[in-house]
Amino acid sequence: MQKNNIAIILSGGTGSRFKSKTPKQFLKIGENSIIEMSVYKFINSKRFKKIIIVSHKSYVEKTKELFNKNKTIVVIEGGTSRQKSVFNGLKTAKIFNAKYVFIHDAVRPFFSEELIDLMLEDLSKNDGVIPAVNIYDSVREVKRNSYVNISRKNLKAIQTPQGFKFSSIFNAHKIQKSLEYTDDSMILYETIKRIKIIDGQNFNFKITTKDDLDFGKKFIKGGEKMNNIRVGTGFDVHKFKKGKFLILFGIKIPFNKSLDGHSDADVGFHAIVDSILGALCLGDIGNHFPPTNDKWKNKRSIYFMRFAEKLLLKNHYKINNIDITLICEEPKVSKYQTHFIDSISKALKIKKNIINVKGTTTEKLGFVGREEGIACQVSVTISDNEF
Ligand code: ZN
Repeated sequence: MQKNNIAIILSGGTGSRFKSKTPKQFLKIGENSIIEMSVYKFINSKRFKKIIIVSHKSYVEKTKELFNKNKTIVVIEGGTSRQKSVFNGLKTAKIFNAKYVFIHDAVRPFFSEELIDLMLEDLSKNDGVIPAVNIYDSVREVKRNSYVNISRKNLKAIQTPQGFKFSSIFNAHKIQKSLEYTDDSMILYETIKRIKIIDGQNFNFKITTKDDLDFGKKFIKGGEKMNNIRVGTGFDVHKFKKGKFLILFGIKIPFNKSLDGHSDADVGFHAIVDSILGALCLGDIGNHFPPTNDKWKNKRSIYFMRFAEKLLLKNHYKINNIDITLICEEPKVSKYQTHFIDSISKALKIKKNIINVKGTTTEKLGFVGREEGIACQVSVTISDNEF
């Protein structure tokens, strides 16, 4: 980990060009907003000491709220132009003793973390490392009465993030204050010529129009379909004891018996937690919360669910769908189905439409048929949560 790397994320848009009340960087594309996707790329890379978000002054508070629990993030106010905003960011980066600084437009959320590593490697020998892509379309200058071909042979489309030695880009900005450029690589080039152009990524496109936003959504959906899908199963049984209620999926249900077992004997939540641990290849509920340890005695099972939810997040996975079968003669699942789904949705922070809860009996056969206990069986699929 490079301790003194700082990222500056430009989030100056106000939505005027996008004909939207909300600036486009705050629009959701999949689970997260565009700015969250960009910022989390830098956070997840674990290469940055601080991430400075330069916001339009009207959105400083909104941005702070969005990231308020993250200590790596600093939100500052921008200037009247992109260049001035970058300069504000650089002044803040100086306070944090930046060695290398990455400057990135918030509305390019799709670059890969590998790009950051490649750029860092080259930064030790260059003042600036700039990703760029070839242009394969024919390029013409189209005016009212002319249609002029421009050779695409040496043309490149320049992207962000752009990486710089802090002192070099800071000086360049100070020197070039009076002229306006559309990106920082040009400012550096006008001052120092040591720039390395590396291969950019075609999928690292800038979300400028409504069409780009729609394409981005499709792009994420396509990715979701293929992203390392894993499956987990869970199975749990608890026997009945004397009592007046059951806890099933975190819900207290009046009943003529209770379930016996460690913690609150919530057979449903236990099977769900086991299915998630299974999909993550992280053992089972007993490994993490040994029944021999009194610490977990009478612990409410919601605690184990929250633990599983955090493990998913920590390992960059998300739940695609979860299918649950409660096996018992009584109570009737249909009566509580919507309550169960609500409770699971809240515990795992997932949408209700990816949760299925059904019930079945064993036709009076076996321990379930004799009404000695309840069993629960769960299948879950999870996939990469890169974006
Ligand atoms: Zn259990």
